[in-house]
Amino acid sequence: MPKKVGKQQSNILSWIVLLIWLFAALIAGVMLVAGLAGFVVPPNLAPDVVPQVPTVPALPTAAAVQQPENQPTADSPVPDPPATPFLPAQGTGGGAQGVFVEPTFTPLVPVTPTPTFFLTPPPAWDGPIVIGTSTGGRPIEVYRFGNGPIKRLIIAGIHGGYEWNTIALADELIAYLQDNPDFVPHTVTLYILRAMNPDGYARSRGVRGRANDNNVDLNRNFPVNWQADWPRAGCWSYLPITGGSGPGSEQETQVVMDFILQTRPTAIISYHSAALGIFPGGEPWEADSIRLAETLAAASTYAFPPVDTGCFFTGSLPDFAVANGIAAVDLELHTHEFTDFEENLGVLKAFLEWRR
Ligand SMILES: [Zn+2]
Repeated sequence: MPKKVGKQQSNILSWIVLLIWLFAALIAGVMLVAGLAGFVVPPNLAPDVVPQVPTVPALPTAAAVQQPENQPTADSPVPDPPATPFLPAQGTGGGAQGVFVEPTFTPLVPVTPTPTFFLTPPPAWDGPIVIGTSTGGRPIEVYRFGNGPIKRLIIAGIHGGYEWNTIALADELIAYLQDNPDFVPHTVTLYILRAMNPDGYARSRGVRGRANDNNVDLNRNFPVNWQADWPRAGCWSYLPITGGSGPGSEQETQVVMDFILQTRPTAIISYHSAALGIFPGGEPWEADSIRLAETLAAASTYAFPPVDTGCFFTGSLPDFAVANGIAAVDLELHTHEFTDFEENLGVLKAFLEWRR
């Protein structure tokens, strides 16, 4: 009986122990669930953190990108506040914070300097540029058109008022190019020296206007093939005139030589009048200057080869140019009266497109 009772009691005790274990297991299960819940809580906290991060940078980021466009020099106050919290995040290399940092700074670098370099492009033309003065103290003026690497030079009025219409043509070309700067290709810089002998231009529109104030023929004063005097047969001989006291003796000659050697044009037209055609530089004529003369003749009705009067040319501007590696021609207008403007627009176009 006691054993029986003892068996029953031990069974009861076994059940009690089992219940205790089950209860303990239940508690352990509850604690386990509670422990797992501990990992779920941080994500509940995370939304409290995350909204703070994007809301703060989102507004200043957009503002920082836009403001430098209107205020290129005032960009420093904008990125400073977001820069402090974002820089450590950039070092970790992860998370949403790094995404905000890059667009904040990247656009600021190229946007600011780009307009600074292109605010002051060279003007399409410039002038009058005074490059020196004549014997009589008058300015010698040059106009520049275009900014290309290929340099071209037109000189008018080397024989003053006697050939006044070459100066009138230069002034018409200058006015036309000021209104039509695209006429000059972007690869070319064109210089127009409108009056090399302003003293003769001021003195007379007839034969008395040919020489400078020292009675020198400037197209015989250049220091190449220079002579003080020359046979007059076949040459201009209306008045006594000289080649100067020495090669390159005249102020106008020196100013033009300096300008040519400084700007280094690859081709030169020196305008004269009247009627004889186009004379290449060089003694004998230089090959590239002949090609230039042929090109200009093909674009006009000016004659090449020119009329041969038997004159012997000394100390001329084209000879000086050729001696310095520059193709050059003397081009005579048809008369002493007209500028032949339309025809010389064609000459100018061919001159700008001609290549050595
Ligand atoms: Zn002349």
